[in-house]
Amino acid sequence: CGIVGYAGSRPALGIVLDGLRRLEYRGYDSAGVAVVCGDELLTEKRAGKLANLEKALSERSSSETTDSGTVLGIGDGVTGIGHTRWATHGGPTDRNAHPHVARDGRVAVIHNGIIENFAKLRAELEADGVQFTSDTDTECAAHLLSAALTKLRTSGEPEGPQLLAAAMRAVCQRLEGAFTLLAVDASLPGTVVGARRNSPLVVGRGTGENYLASDVSAFIEHTREAVELGQDQVVLITGDTIEISDFAGQPATGKDFHIDWDA
Ligand code: GLU
Repeated sequence: CGIVGYAGSRPALGIVLDGLRRLEYRGYDSAGVAVVCGDELLTEKRAGKLANLEKALSERSSSETTDSGTVLGIGDGVTGIGHTRWATHGGPTDRNAHPHVARDGRVAVIHNGIIENFAKLRAELEADGVQFTSDTDTECAAHLLSAALTKLRTSGEPEGPQLLAAAMRAVCQRLEGAFTLLAVDASLPGTVVGARRNSPLVVGRGTGENYLASDVSAFIEHTREAVELGQDQVVLITGDTIEISDFAGQPATGKDFHIDWDA
């Protein structure tokens, strides 16, 4: 299983898929991607090998280009996240593959690990009228993140990438277990947020672009400058910035290191 995220100015899809390929050796049963194109969220996910996902992606981009020359396709977005899944909750099916998207269709979440208290969170969300579309423990994080974003926006918090970090912190405070989480919000193009507890997350520091991954091998062909996140930290990346905080919102630092071995 593996996790990759990219924010920069190059098309994200190929970079994310290459990263997932680099993590394939860890084993997985499904794969998926979410890309922010303009201010739209586009996702694709499939059970099985990366080849199944790539086939679905290739079928879809050809239909998008014949439709109209001006429509942005999933290959055009410069912000993206990708996931390979090792199913723990819910079988290895298309619908259980990540990303999981909140009901507004604008927030996508990927996750490695196990959310131990998902049943309680799911019951709470269902009581609020949320309809789940998968059997995973992960999906509750997508709905919680979307709800946290809405709450921040309606309380008058200024629009901007910081909203996504604040919402992710609020979600993490409710989760028990082990998680590496990445998320994007179509209303905040150019931004990817990550969080970790009992599960690894590293930042790759590029020039005008930054990466997030569960393992440095995902981005080593692009940069060898990395930051290892500490326990219970949230990281917000744009092409030009990397901001780390703890779950309470205090500024924090990860461990900077240079990757000097060969991939
Ligand atoms: N627990 C999550 C699921 O079953 C994530 C599994 C993983 O680490 O890939 O979907």
